Amino acid sequence: MDDKIDRLKEIVANSKHLVAFTGAGISAESGIPTYRGTGGIWTKYDPAKYANVQYFLKDPSYYWRFFRDVRYPSLKQAQPSAAHYVLVELEKQGILSLVITQNIDGLHQMAGQSNVCGLHGNTRQIKCTDCKSMFPMDTVYEQLEKELPPHCSCGGLLRPNVVLFGESLPQEALMEAWQAAEECDTFLVVGSSLVVYPAAQIPVRAKEHGASLVIVNIDETPLDPMADLVIHQSASEALVPLK
Ligand SMILES: [Zn+2]
Repeated sequence: MDDKIDRLKEIVANSKHLVAFTGAGISAESGIPTYRGTGGIWTKYDPAKYANVQYFLKDPSYYWRFFRDVRYPSLKQAQPSAAHYVLVELEKQGILSLVITQNIDGLHQMAGQSNVCGLHGNTRQIKCTDCKSMFPMDTVYEQLEKELPPHCSCGGLLRPNVVLFGESLPQEALMEAWQAAEECDTFLVVGSSLVVYPAAQIPVRAKEHGASLVIVNIDETPLDPMADLVIHQSASEALVPLK
């Protein structure tokens, strides 16, 4: 495995325009429970309900109770992992130009990453469904004691600024991701199983446009065969040696 890490160091050192693509794996060491985690309060709420737009519109209180009891406490105690900070460091060195993320936990931004393209939004931001005003989650959390579901001063229902099941991805973020994939010289996947759209396509686009494709993920991914380097380790195990 050490020679793979050496190869990763070499690729990154020779890269002038690196784009990282991150998934749940980079936040696994940050105390963010996964949808599939067993045990605990998390499992009392069904993602087919709290993360589904049709269900949200039918019964928004279900999401907001989940937010109050589960998501908010987990976001408050979550800290960026060592891997998040390595990506910040690569950005400061002028090597990394963009982080494209499937995650909604806001940990890249918390770590100090400047250029983040969130394909699925950010669950720390709350948006009015009518006037589109944005609110920080702490403000809305306090509001939940008095009002469930919470509303904007304009009367509109508040919702998380994330892509729910049944909604399409934000076009602007998607366009930015495609363009970055075409322009980068190294495309570094970190902690994504690369099975869902667009995760399964964006790295392919990068490879087709001449980038080196590196995949860091605990488990195998469908794109492993086309990658220049595959490291089956945790995000921090693979990235921390780059510091
Ligand atoms: Zn409003």
